Amino acid sequence: MKIKCDFCKTEYGLDRAPTTPVKCAVCGHCWSVPVPARRSAYLMFFASVCALLSAIVFTVAVITRHQATHNERGPLLTNIAQVTTTTDEGGVSRLVVNGSVINISDQIYGVPDLIIVSSDDDGRILARQKFMPSATLLDAGASVDFSHVLAPQPSGVRKISAHLADIQPSDTKPKEQK
Ligand SMILES: [Zn+2]
Repeated sequence: MKIKCDFCKTEYGLDRAPTTPVKCAVCGHCWSVPVPARRSAYLMFFASVCALLSAIVFTVAVITRHQATHNERGPLLTNIAQVTTTTDEGGVSRLVVNGSVINISDQIYGVPDLIIVSSDDDGRILARQKFMPSATLLDAGASVDFSHVLAPQPSGVRKISAHLADIQPSDTKPKEQK
């Protein structure tokens, strides 16, 4: 490659790009030779690989944290997919809650009753309704869908959430009734 002294414009021919600042033999001026384009392309590639790797690590960290949250909440999760409305024979509009219960553990669990909680904008609970999902047992990793028509709702309901009543692993003895 050819380099040129910034100061006296003397040209020098070099076999390869110098990695350290060079000194002009004529005027003694010192300067850094810019890295050639090929090398910077390589650096760009390296930087993008690093960025990609850190993105993957970040994703894994997020997923792990998400899983941890699941575990804190127990082996079964409820998920509301959709809330629709239907009109019954009396012409009353009813909310229909569609969702699923998922067993995220590695053992079989009995499906408990589900409690649908209706709350307002400020999170105040306006109504609770309990019902039984169609499945009684959930295999590890399995899920069951539910669709439940709610009783007429009080006004001001903005949020519908599904909760599980007490759950127990199927291989443990149920608590004795007092
Ligand atoms: Zn010079």
